[in-house]
Amino acid sequence: MDFDFDLYVIGAGSGGVRASRFAAGYGARVAVAESRYLGGTCVNVGCVPKKLLVYGASYSDDFENAPGFGWTLDKPSFDWSTLIANKNREIERLNGIYRNLLVNSGVALHEGHARIIDPHTVEINGARHTAAHILIGTGGWPIVPDLPGKEHIITSNEAFYLKELPRRVVVVGGGYIAVEFASIFHGMGAQVTQLYRGELFLRGFDGGIREHLRDELRRKGLDLRFNADPARIDRQQDGSLRVTLKTGEHIDTDCVFYATGRRAMVDGLGLENTGVELDEQGFIKVDEEYRTTEPSIYALGDVINRVPLTPVALAEGMAIARRLFRPEEYRKVDYSLIPTAVFSLPNIGTVGLTTEAAQAAGYQVRLFESRFRPMKLTLTGSQEKTLMKLVVDADTDRVLGCHMVGPDAGEIVQGIAIALKAGATKRVFDETIGIHPTAAEEFVTMRTAVA
Ligand code: FAD
Ligand code: NDP
Repeated sequence: MDFDFDLYVIGAGSGGVRASRFAAGYGARVAVAESRYLGGTCVNVGCVPKKLLVYGASYSDDFENAPGFGWTLDKPSFDWSTLIANKNREIERLNGIYRNLLVNSGVALHEGHARIIDPHTVEINGARHTAAHILIGTGGWPIVPDLPGKEHIITSNEAFYLKELPRRVVVVGGGYIAVEFASIFHGMGAQVTQLYRGELFLRGFDGGIREHLRDELRRKGLDLRFNADPARIDRQQDGSLRVTLKTGEHIDTDCVFYATGRRAMVDGLGLENTGVELDEQGFIKVDEEYRTTEPSIYALGDVINRVPLTPVALAEGMAIARRLFRPEEYRKVDYSLIPTAVFSLPNIGTVGLTTEAAQAAGYQVRLFESRFRPMKLTLTGSQEKTLMKLVVDADTDRVLGCHMVGPDAGEIVQGIAIALKAGATKRVFDETIGIHPTAAEEFVTMRTAVA
């Protein structure tokens, strides 16, 4: 059968754009549909604007520490609307770059909401297009639990466009987004209360790292409350909001920000016209090569239940393009040792097994830790400490995991991830000469295992 396209991609986000460009580069006839914003979540309401806000928030510590190095500053003030306007301009610039990237690689860009009509047909803006393969890269969307007063809640989608910085913010959730936004709002001067339903936030991260970040954030003045679950939210007469917890306790605030997870975005996608099946959490089921239960339809990124991170969606996009149009270069995505960072202030950087996971997997674990006051803070009043950890397999000496809380942890751990990927042992770390004086050199100078 003759199709209009070899590949029709739905969603010009991280994964969709990467798959489209690579497929077109391999000579395929490719179209991509985008209903909202070029570049997807990461560029518009995710990684990029988030990191810009984190940079913005980080200045408050710098201003506080500068007098120790001889600087005199008048009381610095912060203007949210300037930051948001500048951020929006940067995002528009990136949207333009994405448009050029697609068009210059020969991809047909269809702007509108795409709906699948049958396993080889997509409808968009009233036109139907056929394709040998359809790739779904429609990403995710925030989920908020049902509770009275839900309508007062904002999510990350709205936070990026708030007209003004709230004076007080209640952040609900204990994952990446909640922890990052608590630091953002706090750094900009808001009074932040973070509520997490469990014992300690950032479930799945190394226990020592979670405790260290908890202590550092509290030291900075964030009000972190664990085993805390909102029961309702009410608008008060003075316009403020009251969050009432299940315990009956209440907190008055100006903004309630929820980051309680994300679902697959499959709204109006027409999956009912296909054999595509969803898992019990509503994500699209795929096999090892990203094929859904409908043979001509593939899916990647946040819409499947793997690892919702941009570099992972990029790797999946590239793998699918190769699998379909350059099979001789196809390599499976390796999901082991994916490094990641939480851009709280201070950052977490992590790769590999946590202490708990290594123990649960049956390894004899040797643990190396370094806790120190970064040199950059020595002349200041800040008591902030950095924590670095290596989790080592005592039998083979192989480094199984590397974890850090401290400035630039993401930047530092990216390099360490390469060493872990290469199978580095602790001895290789020990034989590596440090760069002095840096914080990162601690990773090659830890000599004594903790008891
Ligand atoms: P997306 O990038 O979400 O793209 C999906 C696209 O599909 C969207 O543009 C959407 O408009 C479009 N679409 C949906 N339905 C249709 C339709 N029917 N027709 C046409 N178009 C449609 N990851 C990191 O690695 N590092 C970070 O620092 C980081 N920070 C984040 C911060 C926040 C606040 C959030 C929310 C996420 C963050 N992420 C981060 C995760 C990252 O953004 C996602 O993993 C990544 O964007 C997923 O890419 P994707 O291609 O699957 O989908
Ligand atoms: P996460 O899944 O990371 O965290 C969700 C949080 O909400 C958890 O603490 C969870 O608690 C809690 N939660 C879930 N349901 C409820 C509920 N009903 N009531 C109260 N709390 C609840 O999701 P995020 O939304 O933070 O982020 C989504 C994904 O996006 C991340 O997993 C990450 O992959 C990606 N991302 C990556 C970033 C980065 O790389 N820096 C930054 C931001 C996002 P519990 O642990 O108890 O289940």
